[in-house]
Amino acid sequence: MPDHLGMDAFAHLEAAEAIVRAGARLGARGLIVAAEGNLSIRLGDQLLVTPSGRRKDELSVEDLLLVPLDLDPAAGDEAGYGEGTGPRPSSDIAVHRAVYRARPDVRAVAHAHLAASLGLTIAGERPSPDDLPETRLLLPRLPFVALLPMGSPEIAAAVAAALTEPPEPLATAVLQERHGAVTVGTTLEAAVDRLELVDLLCRVRRDALLIEASRRAR
Ligand SMILES: [Zn+2]
Repeated sequence: MPDHLGMDAFAHLEAAEAIVRAGARLGARGLIVAAEGNLSIRLGDQLLVTPSGRRKDELSVEDLLLVPLDLDPAAGDEAGYGEGTGPRPSSDIAVHRAVYRARPDVRAVAHAHLAASLGLTIAGERPSPDDLPETRLLLPRLPFVALLPMGSPEIAAAVAAALTEPPEPLATAVLQERHGAVTVGTTLEAAVDRLELVDLLCRVRRDALLIEASRRAR
């Protein structure tokens, strides 16, 4: 740890660097476009979170926002970030908060609008982790949450419920209808790994459906 930093400041910097790296990784893999997606890491009773309206693959550590885990009703703002005109946390902040409150074991949350998952869920398809040996092992459960307004208390509650639904082991990823996936981990790297696995699963299922359809059409 650098001498000039206290423990909290060091943890903050380490988390910020992990978020910047994860954003760049999601961009390099084509899993986010424009300002989509969001990432957070829990630091005690605060969250370090990506800002709204910015590309997540071009962030620097100064761009990230520290917000309280629990909403302060006195702030008078749904995002819990006051009424200022400065940068605001992700519009999906309610989902992140609900997940951390429901799952004390979770230290990081990642979310992206995985294109293959959007297509599949528009078509009413739900991939199963049992489709592939790799996802069966590394992502044994993938609960599904039906379409709800983005950033709403309803979607936050539904995602948190899906991540706490028994049996153990609890799910580490949730597929959202027309809204990609939310994944969690004890590290942000683990959460992003799971986003990649959900993406792989969805792309493979889509390809299998297309092959089957073309075979039937022959
Ligand atoms: Zn989203």
